[in-house]
Amino acid sequence: MTTTKPLLGRNIAVIGAGIIGACCAAQLSSAGAKVTIIDRSMPGSSGASRGNAAHIAASEILPMSSPGIALDALSMLLDPMAPLKVPLSQWPKLMPWLSRFLFNSQASIYRENIVKLAQLNRQVLADVERLYALSGLSDQLQRDGALYLYESQQSLKKAASGFAIRQEYGFNCESINPDQLYQLEPELAKIFAGGYRIPQWMTVSNPQKIVTGMVQYSCANGAKFICEEIQQIIPQLQSGGAEVQLRYKNGRNQNFDQVVLAAGVWSKKLLKQLGTAKLLEAERGYNSTYTAAGINIGRALLFGDRGIVATPLAQGIRIGGWAELGGIKRPPNPKYFQAIEAMSLEIFPQLQTQQKYRWMGHRPSTPSSLPIIESSSANQNIVYATGHGHLGLTQAPTTAKLVQQLLLQA
Ligand SMILES: Cc1cc2nc3c(=O)[nH]c(=O)nc-3n(C[C@H](O)[C@H](O)[C@H](O)COP(=O)(O)OP(=O)(O)OC[C@H]3O[C@@H](n4cnc5c(N)ncnc54)[C@H](O)[C@@H]3O)c2cc1C
Repeated sequence: MTTTKPLLGRNIAVIGAGIIGACCAAQLSSAGAKVTIIDRSMPGSSGASRGNAAHIAASEILPMSSPGIALDALSMLLDPMAPLKVPLSQWPKLMPWLSRFLFNSQASIYRENIVKLAQLNRQVLADVERLYALSGLSDQLQRDGALYLYESQQSLKKAASGFAIRQEYGFNCESINPDQLYQLEPELAKIFAGGYRIPQWMTVSNPQKIVTGMVQYSCANGAKFICEEIQQIIPQLQSGGAEVQLRYKNGRNQNFDQVVLAAGVWSKKLLKQLGTAKLLEAERGYNSTYTAAGINIGRALLFGDRGIVATPLAQGIRIGGWAELGGIKRPPNPKYFQAIEAMSLEIFPQLQTQQKYRWMGHRPSTPSSLPIIESSSANQNIVYATGHGHLGLTQAPTTAKLVQQLLLQA
């Protein structure tokens, strides 16, 4: 069998070795590019990709900014156990992002964004299967579906229209009653009024391992990893050069034919320097991984009333979620871990909590819930791949495919 190498010999830098950069590197190196992956930390050791909930959630096509969100958000901000948090000091900095977020909640824009997300996410399952197979990571995929669970008839009713929309766009959602759900998940407390099963949902057994696996595959294809921070991307157009220059923190400069910017929420600074500022904010999420949980769950579980999810992983059961628009500097808030851990015991009364570790990560979030996958207006040889919010693990292989197309068009 002959394989085509459309990027053969191109010297391409990928900034960021999170799941987006790692999948881009795997895709581009398999297409023949000479890839250099650059991250200030070792792959898989930092960033949002390290400890996320491990869901491949293609059916998640509903943007966070939806009609009625302003009122919902207000009531959530007043409730200490609600999943949305905005520290007081962040409000002034967040104004441009929040204004656009509220603007996007108009019904017509909400619908447009659903169409765009559905168009992207319809490609996800095939792209995940393809890139994971190519990189030898298929055995990390758990194809067990997911259950969305609700604790009252009122919340079930409120969620119904969202499942109808998912169904409309081709993602199967099967309504289930409490008897069916306790049969599937006997460890759950008997507090649920019902829910939905989403059979196409997948999880990975360890999200960190997907990052390192993609980087290892890239390196086996000739890619190089450099552990350094990028301080600036210089488009070089003024000097007539077709290349892109990267300036490292250690003062060194290096030229590349093309550059992919995949530095998660930290892309914001580099985007601004390039004169192409984007609305991108850190939406912080919290979870605890129970390494001797004493219970088993069979699939991804999403608790609609609490904004948290539970995932069976190779290392135990991970439970968490929430959204704190908390910026990139402040330390994690221990109260949020405690609150989520208390909820976890309400949901799983038999959960053994002695052995656990906590993690907080920064989702790179846009006000539309749509990722930024585009060529830079500063130089078409720079491609942006960031802003994946809640869905970076899900959308990474599709993003990598689209990034390759943009690099080829440049
Ligand atoms: C609690 C939580 C649960 C989540 N659950 C899921 C889920 O179940 N499914 C899903 O699809 N998504 C989930 N997400 C979202 C997902 O984790 C993110 O969308 C995704 O990890 C973003 O990947 P990234 O590669 O863009 O960024 P990151 O993983 O943040 O990686 C960015 C990398 O860039 C590097 N970097 C930054 N600046 C520089 C620089 N100047 N020079 C060099 N390197 C730099 C960083 O060191 C880092 O390694 C979750 C997120 C959180 C927080």
